Amino acid sequence: MTFVADCMLGRLAKWLKILGFDVLYFSKAEDKDLVELARREGRVLLTRDTGLIEKTVKRPNRLFVRSDVWEDQVVQVLDEFELWGEVRPNTRCIECNLPLKPLSRDRARNLVTPHVRENASSFAVCSGCDRVFWQGTHYGDMERKIERLIERRGKTITG
Ligand SMILES: [Zn+2]
Repeated sequence: MTFVADCMLGRLAKWLKILGFDVLYFSKAEDKDLVELARREGRVLLTRDTGLIEKTVKRPNRLFVRSDVWEDQVVQVLDEFELWGEVRPNTRCIECNLPLKPLSRDRARNLVTPHVRENASSFAVCSGCDRVFWQGTHYGDMERKIERLIERRGKTITG
């Protein structure tokens, strides 16, 4: 399942990408262009808008996002489409929205600092921007946030 998020949902789009999902997002776009893009590429439209989008795109091709808080928004999307089992953190470039490709330790050697080279458990590279990503050097803010999200599985706040 792939998505396009409306202009009000930048943080939701970013976090869905961090969790591995394919999400298009533009900080400026006309509603009609988003509707057209969603139709053309078969993407689900995520929206906070109650105007054009809600009138022209019907469920399940559109989801009205209820909360203004990004954590609630992520939980709602994953609950609604039952996507928790497909969460794969850090497998997609949040800039390019492209899947990362595994990179051997050998090939990563000259692309990262010695500290990262010694301590990372795995490496990956984006084929769009050539940025190198790695896992396992620290337990950081992002990992904590991902864990907190996963604990909220099935607990969408309704109403
Ligand atoms: Zn990239």
